[in-house]
Amino acid sequence: MRVRWKLAKFILTVTAVLPVVFVFLVAGALSRADASPSGNALSGEAVRVKIQDLAGRSSEYNGRKVVFSGEAIGDIMYRGQHAWVNVLDSTGAIGVFMPREFAQKIQHLGDYSHKGDTVEVIGVFSISCPLHNGDPDVHAESLTVLESGKTILHPISRERVILSVVLAMAAGYLGYWAWKAKKLA
Ligand SMILES: [Zn+2]
Repeated sequence: MRVRWKLAKFILTVTAVLPVVFVFLVAGALSRADASPSGNALSGEAVRVKIQDLAGRSSEYNGRKVVFSGEAIGDIMYRGQHAWVNVLDSTGAIGVFMPREFAQKIQHLGDYSHKGDTVEVIGVFSISCPLHNGDPDVHAESLTVLESGKTILHPISRERVILSVVLAMAAGYLGYWAWKAKKLA
């Protein structure tokens, strides 16, 4: 009887404590996920790829959840509540279809004089998207800005500015002397 009572007490304690332990474990897992560099708990399920992998081995990744990072380039094309963003990594570029609010996180877009924001995209790759003219694309489930972009100063354009200032000064100087010489003549 005494042993049974002890057993019952033990079971009662375990059932009372288990949910608390479970909550702690889940909370711990979530905070670890937040602390990961990608900052996204979803990335665990996705296969990390380079953009070239999608082109080169597209059938392998078709319909799969992938994760990749790269520079947001070109223009954001808004389509109602969605948007298209082109993402470029060292191997290639791909069009990413996403909810409007994901695209609004992007502050810098890469072009000749700007380095675009570096973004990490988690989404589903389609070799031939039935919603978008059968083109290859990625439908984003999350977008994280990893690094902010910036304006790029090209040395050549600074040289050109200096050169044009020097030429303008030379022209002014020559003009002055021409005017003076004419006046003296
Ligand atoms: Zn699509």
